[in-house]
Amino acid sequence: MDSNNLPKLDGFLPRQPSEKYTSPGKCIYCGEKNNLSDEHIIPFALGGNIILEKSSCPDCATLTSAFELTCLRTMYGPLRLLYSLPTRRPKKRPKKLPLKVKFNSAETEWQTILIDQKKFPFLITFPYFETPGIVNGNRLYESEGPKSKKLWIRGASPYYSFHELMENLLVELKAYSIFPESKAEIPAFCKLLAKIAHSFAVAKIGISGFKPFLKPLIIKNDLSHCMYYIGSTGNDEPPKNRLHDLNILEFNNINAILVKVRLLCKLGTPTYIVAVGTRK
Ligand SMILES: [Zn+2]
Repeated sequence: MDSNNLPKLDGFLPRQPSEKYTSPGKCIYCGEKNNLSDEHIIPFALGGNIILEKSSCPDCATLTSAFELTCLRTMYGPLRLLYSLPTRRPKKRPKKLPLKVKFNSAETEWQTILIDQKKFPFLITFPYFETPGIVNGNRLYESEGPKSKKLWIRGASPYYSFHELMENLLVELKAYSIFPESKAEIPAFCKLLAKIAHSFAVAKIGISGFKPFLKPLIIKNDLSHCMYYIGSTGNDEPPKNRLHDLNILEFNNINAILVKVRLLCKLGTPTYIVAVGTRK
């Protein structure tokens, strides 16, 4: 296939229907009552369209947007370009992106060259975790900080094979080898999952409906035992024709409200389970 003539990917990922929840009257992370702003439960830049109105104070918004940006830039930035997910600064989107290349087998170092983003071999990364400690019946102190078991990595090219894209690029660049890179920011991703699950639980159950677990993780950077609360499911679910999936789960034998989080389900991504708190 001629890589100058790639199919358009706009519209491959379905849009998320918009949902709005009324303000809890204070910051859902620290309790501050003034200068509240609307919270996107899933980041706007990932197509998130569920809003919890007036629920984050300026200090907490600064903290949460920092780890959101870390994840978006390193793990999903390429995806946002490729699928035309929203950006508040469309003109700032880079047209060219750096790629590591070797032009012959004798080269020992990779050279970095700039590639048109339409032809760039993008990788999307999600970490896999163990099941959350609380679901396994472990003790809090037995659980570790951010730790992934392995990574889910996919080439972002739904209409043709990633392999084919790479082969074409090799020919076009007259290159010997190409090194597409994938990064995972595990601590930032754990905080992102905690923030999504906590804000979703407040939207669905109400701020006074549960005793929250995750505030120290989200705004105090206390990740020391975060794998007690956060994990992934043992089995991959089939892809779903929707952008993201969020559900509240409760089981008789687990003393916690769990939120199931699956981002970009149509790509067949991992499913996460996050324990947000106990019923009051
Ligand atoms: Zn706050």
